[in-house]
Amino acid sequence: MHKNLVLLISGLIFCLCTGCAINPVTGEEELMLFPEEQDIAIGRKYAPEVEKQMGGRIANEGLQNYVDSVGQRIARVCHKPHLEYHFVALQDKSVNALALPGGYLFITKGMLKELTSEAQLAAILAHEIVHVVARDTSNVMSNQIGIDLLLSAVLSDKAPRGVLTAADLTRQILSLQYSREDEETADLAGLDYMVLAGYDPYGMVETMQMLQSRHEVRPIEFFSTHPSPQNRVEYLTQRIQTKYYSLAGLRIGREDYHRAVSQQLNN
Ligand SMILES: [Zn+2]
Repeated sequence: MHKNLVLLISGLIFCLCTGCAINPVTGEEELMLFPEEQDIAIGRKYAPEVEKQMGGRIANEGLQNYVDSVGQRIARVCHKPHLEYHFVALQDKSVNALALPGGYLFITKGMLKELTSEAQLAAILAHEIVHVVARDTSNVMSNQIGIDLLLSAVLSDKAPRGVLTAADLTRQILSLQYSREDEETADLAGLDYMVLAGYDPYGMVETMQMLQSRHEVRPIEFFSTHPSPQNRVEYLTQRIQTKYYSLAGLRIGREDYHRAVSQQLNN
């Protein structure tokens, strides 16, 4: 047998045994500690807890449908369009957005109030979709919380062993920190998703500029110390100028956002 083929096959066997998976966003091989099917079970299990701890859903069906429609538009063009994505707007006042494994995504009222266009909303949701597609959430959860704890909570209806309750675990999930590489990938791949879905990529630059002007101290998504908002503005602008310089007329949606979100939240 050809030497390269032997290497390839032995590599594949090694991968199958240790649980490697190809990250569709980066194209790189990654060690995954549990199969992808578990992502959905974990997301489904913790989504109601996250909702509860972040003040519940915003009680406005039109607003929820609008957020969902923007999210679905991006989900259709991402690397894993077969997953079922859920986009929910929560009452929480912090400026935040987060994703659970398996396609459960959340954005807070605090964040919605700061945004001024549909393209900016698309930017936040696209960034979160990348975390789901690349399984960053699954990775970071298994590293920072412990896979046995997570899975035992999912597999049984009782509280997980030890003193941790589902609420305790959810609090940990809400303070997870992604790596600098994961964040940069989520920004840049999110930018690609936005454009594929027909949105003006400058919506993401504007979002980062908004974050730059704020000083949140809590360790929440988008306010990690890395990469700094300044850096993000720079690499995003550079990417747009080199890759998307010829695009024009993409959707911004300021009026629609104002009508469907800003006005509703001010009522
Ligand atoms: Zn992120």
